[in-house]
Amino acid sequence: MKTNKIYIGNIAIGGGEQISVQSMTNTDTKDTASTIAQIKELEKVGCDIVRLAVVDEIAAKSIKKIKKSVSIPIVADIHFDYKLALISMESGVDALRLNPGNIRKKEYIKTVINEAKDRNIVIRVGVNGGSIDRVKYKEVNAQSMVSSAIEHIKLMEDLDFTNIKVSLKTSDIKTTIESNKLFSAQYAYPLHLGVTEAGTLRSSLIKSSLGIGSLLLEGIGDTIRFSITGNPIEEVVSAKNLLKFLNMSNEKSIEIISCPTCGRTKGNIESIANDIEILTRGIKKDLSIAIMGCIVNGPGEAKHCDFGVACGNEGDYIFFEKTNKPIKIKKEEVLDFLLKKIKEH
Ligand code: SF4
Repeated sequence: MKTNKIYIGNIAIGGGEQISVQSMTNTDTKDTASTIAQIKELEKVGCDIVRLAVVDEIAAKSIKKIKKSVSIPIVADIHFDYKLALISMESGVDALRLNPGNIRKKEYIKTVINEAKDRNIVIRVGVNGGSIDRVKYKEVNAQSMVSSAIEHIKLMEDLDFTNIKVSLKTSDIKTTIESNKLFSAQYAYPLHLGVTEAGTLRSSLIKSSLGIGSLLLEGIGDTIRFSITGNPIEEVVSAKNLLKFLNMSNEKSIEIISCPTCGRTKGNIESIANDIEILTRGIKKDLSIAIMGCIVNGPGEAKHCDFGVACGNEGDYIFFEKTNKPIKIKKEEVLDFLLKKIKEH
């Protein structure tokens, strides 16, 4: 089902728009200097939307200052306290992540919804497997996840509010996939995809790619977040890579093609490949660069790349570029040489 199109700041979500990438800061929102610095880093690697934890009034008021220094839209993450939602909106936030059912009094829900309506602010209903009402729902499964989301949605629809986005996340890949499928078969609200508490980088790369990727391949999902324990920069880089590898990104970016290494490998190409990957993050150029471990198979395997290096027998490198004559590069100069080539291209 084609989803509704909504806007968080200037970012369109749903309705067949480009899938956006989100992350969440892990700084204390009250520490505005650190939060602004981290958002700027996230902007550099291509984050489209960032969420901040709003735990008290000072954090909610801090959004005003943070908004002035960053350019991507901000979502306030709020639990229970309707006043924090009101202050965040007053501070200029672009969207809220808030489950109306967690605000106990009906009049408070109405106040928040009316304010969001007046300010044209999106509200994300975020159902997480871990926080589902276990008195009402005995099991965490697709049905209970969707029913829980519908409860929150109904509270808003009854107040004539439909500027809604929904997420259905569990730490179990299958339940996450089934929940989103079940929801998208019935509702046109845009979906924010993610596998929650997906663990460290290594574990999240597998869980998130599988969970989010499977849904995207079926045409489900409008915005995504990789959940990774650690630096949120990795979340954005990983999510953007997934979109690129699925041919779902229109953005130019650098692709590193590197071989798995074997007994023929003569140099430390793992370190070169990692360094190039980190140093070229956020560069908007359509370039594929090969970093190969030997000259026997390397250049041949990498012939579809724009240029690359292969490690020679003495540990130095051979630079190759299409039909140009190969050039020999000393191993201590290879990183700078590649960076220069990327800049020139
Ligand atoms: S390119 Fe060379 S070093 Fe790398 S895996 Fe292939 S044969 Fe081994």
